[in-house]
Amino acid sequence: MEKVRCLIIGGGPAGYTAAIYASRAALSPVLYEGMEPGGQLTTTTVVENYPGFPGGVDANALMADMREQAVRLGADIRRGAVTSVDLSERPFKLTVDGCTELEAESLIIATGATARYLGLPSEQKFRGLGVSACATCDGFFYRKKDVAVVGGGDTACEEATYLAGLCRKVYMIVRRDVLRASVAMQERVKNTPNIEILWNCNTREVLGDSSGVTGARLERKDGEVFDIAVDGFFLAIGHNPQSQLFAPWIKTDEAGYIVTDGRSSATNVEGVFAAGDVQDPTYRQAINAAASGCRAALDAEKFLKR
Ligand code: NDP
Repeated sequence: MEKVRCLIIGGGPAGYTAAIYASRAALSPVLYEGMEPGGQLTTTTVVENYPGFPGGVDANALMADMREQAVRLGADIRRGAVTSVDLSERPFKLTVDGCTELEAESLIIATGATARYLGLPSEQKFRGLGVSACATCDGFFYRKKDVAVVGGGDTACEEATYLAGLCRKVYMIVRRDVLRASVAMQERVKNTPNIEILWNCNTREVLGDSSGVTGARLERKDGEVFDIAVDGFFLAIGHNPQSQLFAPWIKTDEAGYIVTDGRSSATNVEGVFAAGDVQDPTYRQAINAAASGCRAALDAEKFLKR
């Protein structure tokens, strides 16, 4: 059976950065990229807020460069998804793609989180063409335009107020007659004049043409169906951290985010570290994921050299 000193699961900014640091620390890291090499960032187009790129950078190119940098420094990056784990004792036992078994002395979980979508075919069709689950990433492209945000939680309120600073008008599509968000966030939304809340509304369809999103068809609880004209359609109905595989051993919060110890990346299992969105319900930006990948590699190095 193959024995790995430092195994990294996840091919997003956290995983690749962990691989860069672990390679330079001579930990001979092996990284499995999972089902979505490049991570969530590859669902967007241009990244304008990643430092070091004054003209912005293509999201896929940024991830490809991170990957290449890790490979050049010696990381062994492989296609494949870890399908089962046993973290009951060290070395940890893992299976890849249901067949390849290996043992790891240390493990960095960087499996990320996936944004929830409504599940409409039209929403899927216009993903990246006006449909987005990240206002901070994509809001800039809708300056002085009209957009909609689905959801009534803190994220939706935060994204709506962020977009209100850029866009002409922001509709919030809320399925009940109350917001789930904290009172402070609700106040902020209510005090922002160019946000209009559409209460008791569900989205039936995202409307569009060859240029992308042009609107949304909504249905109010009383049965009334009506259209709104928007260029951007933002989902803010929550994220699912990809932690289920580790749940029998690794402590998570009630939403499923892995709990790490203070400022470190250590989980409750010695030798297992977590980085990126799988342990971050709050900041969820590539730069934060990369930074936590760095922390996880440094923590793994300290653990292995002890
Ligand atoms: P939440 O689960 O808190 O809210 C999700 C929102 O989306 C709810 O309004 C929910 O409606 C709505 N929703 C869910 N599914 C659908 C659907 N299928 N159709 C329409 N609407 C739907 O998620 P958030 O991402 O907002 O927040 C996650 C956690 O992170 C929370 O604990 C939050 O407080 C925290 N957070 C804190 C921030 C801060 O403090 N600055 C910023 C962002 C998040 P309903 O209410 O009807 O269920």
